[in-house]
Amino acid sequence: MGHIPPSHPRAASLRVREALVAGAGSGLVVREGLIAHGRGEALDYILGERTGRRARSAISAAAATLLLAERPVVSVNGNVAALCAREAVLVARALGAPLEANTFHGDSGRRRRIAARLESHGARGVLGASRAHRARLRGLDSERGAVDSRGIAAADAVLVALEDGDRAEALSRAGARVVAIDLNPLSRTARAADVTIVDNVVRAMGLLASRCAALRASPRGRLARIARAHDNAAALAGHAGEMRARLGRIAALGR
Ligand code: ATP
Repeated sequence: MGHIPPSHPRAASLRVREALVAGAGSGLVVREGLIAHGRGEALDYILGERTGRRARSAISAAAATLLLAERPVVSVNGNVAALCAREAVLVARALGAPLEANTFHGDSGRRRRIAARLESHGARGVLGASRAHRARLRGLDSERGAVDSRGIAAADAVLVALEDGDRAEALSRAGARVVAIDLNPLSRTARAADVTIVDNVVRAMGLLASRCAALRASPRGRLARIARAHDNAAALAGHAGEMRARLGRIAALGR
């Protein structure tokens, strides 16, 4: 793997790519995951590669929504395991929630590798890798519909990141509150979710862990007010407007 000079203007982004390529080498990340990351990177570029005010407010609403749930689950796919396993474990710990290895592509071997990666960061009893506890999300065929009967199948709130739109919609139809981390405010996942954090998972997961820990002892009334104050459709429209404004400023400079 090549050395990335810290002075490189895109060093942070290149390090993330390296982590994904390493994840692909160890069988955590699939090729489709690399392509999905490219779509996210392009949108992050337009957003200015920073966690803005709207994303921070969504992170608070996400923490409140997950803390209010009785059976929250943190769903982890290959990209998340490669990029922010430690932070995902911290989110689960702050919530007292199980982690579930959940893949759109691939077999249970990859789910086991994701579970092992999470366990190397201190997680215990990661769900999703055992065939004995297989359940199915209604409306989804093959591997992409497979969930754990002790986890997502019984959850009333699920945190997903870089999720496919079909699955996010199926989770919502099944009655779970959906909290998504997705850089694309136009995606079906972003629109199907109750709370969408439009931010890079590399930045957002750690911030979410801190927010969950900070709000954990709050009265339910306060959490409910924070969750209720979030209007997801308005927030997504705001993100789209922010992107347009940023591109407008860049275009104006070029004139
Ligand atoms: P949908 O199916 O929800 O309409 P999609 O087809 O774009 O959207 P996928 O390709 O399955 O969805 O998932 C990738 C999604 O994850 C994209 O929306 C992409 O913007 C987002 N994404 C990729 N990398 C990151 C990242 N590092 N952090 C947050 N989101 C990301």
